[in-house]
Amino acid sequence: MALKINETCDACGRCLPACPQDAIRATGDGYAIDRTLCSECVGVHAEPQCEAVCRMDACVHDDDHPEREQALLARARAKGPSTGG
Ligand code: SF4
Repeated sequence: MALKINETCDACGRCLPACPQDAIRATGDGYAIDRTLCSECVGVHAEPQCEAVCRMDACVHDDDHPEREQALLARARAKGPSTGG
């Protein structure tokens, strides 16, 4: 499943350059994850990078939108190699 950014986000912006999928966008008062781009960082990092860098624990799994690992891997492959940022 994709991750989402919840209301505890304090808009520090650390997640933005950490995302290898360019899936995070500024919303004006915070940040949001495009779940059609998020790959949960599978195949690229051992853990979701937005979750890893977030000091507010605001990047959480979106239980409302479960996805199979196969689909997440395909999404990551479509994006191509990246180190984030
Ligand atoms: Fe980007 Fe990974 Fe966070 Fe998804 S889980 S938004 S791909 S950093």
